Amino acid sequence: DAKNPLFDEKLEPDGGLSRLTETDKRVPATLMSLVRNKEADDLMATIVQIESAFNNKFNYPWTFFNDEEFTEDFKTSALAATGGNCTFVKIEPEDWMEPSWIDVDKARELGIKMKNKDDVQYADLPSYHRMCRWNSGRFFMNPALDNYDYYWRVEPKTDFYCDIDYDIFAYMKENDKVYGFVINLYDSPQSIRTLWPTTKEFFEQNPEYLHPNNALQWVVNTGREGHTKKANGYSTCHFWSNFEIGSLEFFRSKPYQDYFDFLDKNGGFFYERWGDAPVHSLGLAMMADKSKIHYFKDIGYQHFPYFNCPASPKCKGCDAGKFTGIDSLNTESCMSEWFKAAGTG
Ligand code: GDP
Ligand code: MN
Repeated sequence: DAKNPLFDEKLEPDGGLSRLTETDKRVPATLMSLVRNKEADDLMATIVQIESAFNNKFNYPWTFFNDEEFTEDFKTSALAATGGNCTFVKIEPEDWMEPSWIDVDKARELGIKMKNKDDVQYADLPSYHRMCRWNSGRFFMNPALDNYDYYWRVEPKTDFYCDIDYDIFAYMKENDKVYGFVINLYDSPQSIRTLWPTTKEFFEQNPEYLHPNNALQWVVNTGREGHTKKANGYSTCHFWSNFEIGSLEFFRSKPYQDYFDFLDKNGGFFYERWGDAPVHSLGLAMMADKSKIHYFKDIGYQHFPYFNCPASPKCKGCDAGKFTGIDSLNTESCMSEWFKAAGTG
């Protein structure tokens, strides 16, 4: 029942979803990647792994985003690697570039200072700030995703080690999950100095947005003894967003989008270097039911230098039974704090 012959036709811009019938068990969902043309080979290497581990059984469509036009070479490689269900989207400058209220010269200066003085990775690259902002809030609203309820984010240079023999998106839907992650880390406090004070201000103004079963404990925990990575009261714990499976309904909701707009108006995506991982994580921790956030322990994954490697006959190519921060003490990992807060560890 893996391949539905209905969807074998190649080159359908929406992966055949417009022809979904009631008997099709697939969920409206897409694999997605924001990527640069020059990263094509690295991304294709990852896609081939996901296709053979998971997607050749389910044939979910892929959506590729770029702030520049994709080259013909990129498109040809992607079509070949995925079996054809691809949409290529060029992000409009008004969605990608610094918004009108940002002082670009000031942002540039502060970025260089953050990089040189505080060693904040990529702080001197305006493109990295734009990428983080777009991933934080704009991506969910892109019309190319209008017909989808869930996304699975995929980055170049990541590895997938285990066969996944069930429909991940159906799992999300049937179990009413809003978010799935594999790695849980502390962040660089210098990159998000005022993210938590700004977040607190937002929830003081909008207390009704705070979920009664929130994960505030994870957000404000003091961490492991001696851990000093705090950013003005924020533990800096976050879901590492280079892998994520999310509910678009949650991220498109008014509470989340209001939160994103508030952060965006503040300017911290450019005057600091707020990452999309802590922003997604704070939004989820405050506004989602924490029981709807799922740790995919069974997904073998690596984005250097962190990994998740189940000991299972379904997995090969990674260090079986090793999970960053669970079995091995890793001072960058916030996993144990998540288990405590979620009541699942
Ligand atoms: P890191 O994982 O934090 O080291 O950052 P990456 O360089 O992997 O960037 C994160 C994701 O955003 C990757 O999927 C990149 O391909 C993508 N990305 C980063 N900057 C840009 C950019 O300027 N344009 C486009 N199109 N994609 C970008
Ligand atoms: Mn990356």
